[in-house]
Amino acid sequence: MKKIIDNLINRINCPIVILGAGAGGSHSAYRLASSHKKQICIFDRNNYIGGRAYDRDYNGNSPGAYDTTPITAQGSMRFYEVQSVMKQLAIPYTEYDYKTTIINARGKSYTSINEMCDEACDFLKDTYRFRSWFKNINAYAFMEYYDHDSKLNGPIYYPNQGMSQFPKRMMYNATTFYDARLYLNEEILSIDDIPNQNCYPFVIETTRYSIRAQQIIAAIDPLGWQSITGSIANDIKSNEHFQSILPIKTVTIQCYWPHRWWEESKIYGSDVDRIWTRQNCITIAEIFSQRPEQRFQNATRIVYDDGQCVEMWSALIARSSQEDLINEILRGLQSIFTDVSIQRPTKIFTKIWQGDWHFQTANSHITNRQIASWALNPLPRFNRNQLSLVGEAFYLNRAIWTEAAVKSSLISLTSQFNFKFNCFENDSTTSGGRFWPSDLI
Ligand SMILES: Cc1cc2nc3c(=O)[nH]c(=O)nc-3n(C[C@H](O)[C@H](O)[C@H](O)COP(=O)(O)OP(=O)(O)OC[C@H]3O[C@@H](n4cnc5c(N)ncnc54)[C@H](O)[C@@H]3O)c2cc1C
Repeated sequence: MKKIIDNLINRINCPIVILGAGAGGSHSAYRLASSHKKQICIFDRNNYIGGRAYDRDYNGNSPGAYDTTPITAQGSMRFYEVQSVMKQLAIPYTEYDYKTTIINARGKSYTSINEMCDEACDFLKDTYRFRSWFKNINAYAFMEYYDHDSKLNGPIYYPNQGMSQFPKRMMYNATTFYDARLYLNEEILSIDDIPNQNCYPFVIETTRYSIRAQQIIAAIDPLGWQSITGSIANDIKSNEHFQSILPIKTVTIQCYWPHRWWEESKIYGSDVDRIWTRQNCITIAEIFSQRPEQRFQNATRIVYDDGQCVEMWSALIARSSQEDLINEILRGLQSIFTDVSIQRPTKIFTKIWQGDWHFQTANSHITNRQIASWALNPLPRFNRNQLSLVGEAFYLNRAIWTEAAVKSSLISLTSQFNFKFNCFENDSTTSGGRFWPSDLI
């Protein structure tokens, strides 16, 4: 039996293996491809490129690079003017400014923060978009996060055809022009050392491949590591830096509607494009169809929740029929849009993200900086050229999300492959040298 299984496994040697085809992994492939070409192999367990950058069309498919099929964002969707590293990746984007946001709290509806000042800081908890900010998390690490988050101002940009075009186009470039080898639907099962093997010290097993590698860029999110076994995976997972990272679970629900009911409200006016509330489990809704280029889609992301409601939505999503899920969505929306009749959606897509973003556990004595620095050389028995961890979760400025994944990749390429980048020089978040690569390496 073992012999038959062994024969089904394809054995390959690949000098540089990139684990994960999210923003961090795709960016690493993009930068390395011109110099290392088919020496690069990328593996991802998903059947699409992008990881948490996940855009779907009306049929639920994730269109490829440069595809112009309209999409809605199930994962990331925007970046900011101040994120110059993202802008330099040169993806066509649309600027969109929110018009009317409804904040529905304590039985009242507000359209401006000023209206709420009488209730002062008690409102913070009731009105802030993300509930996990009020979880039991490491206070110092959170203040760093908050500091970064508060600097995300200025115009907001929405890449045409979605944020997933960033990783998809970078991967397209790496695989089409430079023959980097991409393997989708390939879950990493184990990562081991090969004793006394200096040339190819790593062996990586997936469902169909056994890969020998010289260098690894592991661009897998912390929860992705959970089911990976082997000496290397086990040592990374048991490290205190890794254990201090706390993934935050969220849910997103997208709906397509037969008509644009949000434009009919006399209470709020016709340009409502965002809603957030803690009075029901809608939590955060975004009305994509207020954006000129998406208007004809009649699409919304009607739920984005990271608190207790995740469990309620998860339970409804797990039911065999969508009836209760739809009723709960309609109930939540009708309690805010009391003057509008909302018909059932024509289509719903749901996604539970087990690790949407990352904080640090409350009792951690490790700093964000230490995590970012550790990720560049996580196991002392290897040198920094051989193995690094990449991604938003391993970068010290996590509040910048996708850009954090890209910057983590830039710094790992500097450390592992001696790349020299000058894009940090124009970056406002490097002021005072806080996030300069040389600080971490
Ligand atoms: C709902 C939502 C909204 C968001 N909104 C924004 C936004 O508007 N702007 C923004 O900048 N960011 C946003 N983000 C965050 C942003 O998407 C992430 O920070 C970024 O995409 C992370 O990239 P990454 O490469 O670090 O990780 P990921 O994208 O998670 O990539 C990790 C990859 O590893 C793969 N993987 C994991 N385990 C295995 C395994 N065992 N074998 C093989 N492959 C594996 C995964 O499939 C995945 O492709 C949002 C995220 C979510 C979920």
